[in-house]
Amino acid sequence: MEGKLLVISGLSAAGKGTIAKALVGNFDNYCLSVSATTREKRGQEQEGVDYFFKTKEQFDEMIKNGELLEYAKYVDNYYGTPKKYVEDRLKEGINVILEIEMQGALQIKKIYDKAILIFFTTSSARIQRERLVKRNRDSREQIEARVRQAIIDAEYAKHYDYVLVNETIEGSIKDIKDIVSGNYDKNKNIEAMKVLDKIVEDIKEEQNV
Ligand code: 5GP
Repeated sequence: MEGKLLVISGLSAAGKGTIAKALVGNFDNYCLSVSATTREKRGQEQEGVDYFFKTKEQFDEMIKNGELLEYAKYVDNYYGTPKKYVEDRLKEGINVILEIEMQGALQIKKIYDKAILIFFTTSSARIQRERLVKRNRDSREQIEARVRQAIIDAEYAKHYDYVLVNETIEGSIKDIKDIVSGNYDKNKNIEAMKVLDKIVEDIKEEQNV
């Protein structure tokens, strides 16, 4: 049986990266696609592990040769999903996770309607802010920008197949496994959307918008 293509996006600091890594680390039938990007390597990042780092010319060549399943410009750089790796794994029956931004996610859904789009949210605006502060990666201004970005990101959630509230890593892994096996109760989306709406409402109130 062909593997499932899982596209994971969500609010900043919702924990999507941790969940994706935990799935791949614990289960042989999950793998994570490594994207190509034109952005500079950061800190401990490794070629072929975190990204395939490309020049703009190399990236354009990949587009021209039809090597990318989708690509998008994000901030000032290009990011794209290598097609062959994804197709080969799916054929082998491995579930492939793409952790990509939302424009790319919607492109994937258009070309491959069997793709499962999953949007992660935190359980409250307060928890999102706490996680952003705790991970100590962004300046105060960047944190505010990421919080405001949640208002825009939440709009995209409507186009996703599933909205999941990441309360615990174990719970989120179970949710994803249930989705893949067809045992997830889709009615839970309604509750999760309410959580997301409340986050947006709280952020708007806080920012007076
Ligand atoms: P970062 O520069 O922080 O690693 O990634 C920036 C954004 O690009 C993140 O939202 C990440 O999910 C997204 N991204 C990473 N790889 C891809 C890709 O192959 N395609 C698209 N569309 N977005 C990607």
